[in-house]
Amino acid sequence: MAKYKLEYIWLDGYKPVPNIRGKTLIKDFESFPTLEQLPNWGFDGSSTQQAEGHNSDCVLKPVARYLDSTVKNGVIVLCEVLHHDLTPHSTNARATILDDPETWFGFEQEYFLYKDGQPLGFPAEGFPKEGQGRYYCGVGYSLMGSIAREIVNKHLDLCLDAGINHEGINSEVAKGQWEFQIFGKGSRKAADEMWVARYLLIRLCEKYGVDVNWHCKPLGATDWNGSGMHSNFSTKYLREVGGKEYFESLMAAFDKYKAEHIAVYGPDNHMRLTGLHETQAIDKFNYGVANRGASIRLPNSMPKNGYKGYLEDRRPNSQGDPYQIASRILETIGTVSHPK
Ligand code: ADP
Ligand code: MN
Ligand code: MN
Ligand code: MN
Repeated sequence: MAKYKLEYIWLDGYKPVPNIRGKTLIKDFESFPTLEQLPNWGFDGSSTQQAEGHNSDCVLKPVARYLDSTVKNGVIVLCEVLHHDLTPHSTNARATILDDPETWFGFEQEYFLYKDGQPLGFPAEGFPKEGQGRYYCGVGYSLMGSIAREIVNKHLDLCLDAGINHEGINSEVAKGQWEFQIFGKGSRKAADEMWVARYLLIRLCEKYGVDVNWHCKPLGATDWNGSGMHSNFSTKYLREVGGKEYFESLMAAFDKYKAEHIAVYGPDNHMRLTGLHETQAIDKFNYGVANRGASIRLPNSMPKNGYKGYLEDRRPNSQGDPYQIASRILETIGTVSHPK
């Protein structure tokens, strides 16, 4: 028997964007526990905007678990929040989203590292000498500083240790801005891993005195880039059959439901989707091959392969909830019929 440290994490009830909360439970297990071995637990919902009325107990139901390589015998236990009658809480988007293990999602999470209220590496007054652009995939101390790369590389290791399908890293266009990518088969799996990856990053940054700023336009209406969470997706049909006609009907559906998509693509997106900085305007929908100013970008390979492959929805932002984003994409896909 060993004492396992189970870090139960969940999304709270804050609007428009939930925060990740966590608390630790110690339990004896012979070996790394299976999901089935992990008990439900509880917390005080009155402190997380999840309590209703005078009854403040909420239930934590484990839905996935990951190795926590920063702690001896550490386990991260991702939980859904339930009422005490075990029905899903209204803040528990995961419980009700559409899922299809045959639909694959790749999320590109952009974010800023922040210190003392501004992007990591910004001077105390004014702006960095080097304007934006040089920081994208940049190298060198004066551009990148001395801690950011250590953070992002450690984060990568934590994700890989946890079994998260982290696929890559790049520094972004603005100083202090970075991106990582997570790929998963099925909306729940990909979105679970994105939330846990976000958690690991925020927690890792604590010891550097750094915060993660997930806002989609933290520097406001300046020339500094915003942060997105481009959402790449492919259904089995798109990967294996595709075709121009089907593709065009799919894009017509995305156009028809553009407002419904924007509604779950993250708050303050009007600040980011301006038509500038490689974005399309928030009220327009278009698509284009290799077009980074489009709402949806088709990789070059797609038309070449008879419209088979994956698509990149560039509109979701860095604070968006991957559960709701993926579910809305599946819902729109579901309105378009195709031959079996
Ligand atoms: P870029 O920055 O050029 O937009 P990235 O390499 O950052 O591209 O991200 C591409 C994303 O597309 C990755 O998350 C990857 O997992 C995802 N992706 C690749 N192939 C597929 C596919 N068939 N279905 C869904 N997502 C995919
Ligand atoms: Mn990218
Ligand atoms: Mn990017
Ligand atoms: Mn992209």
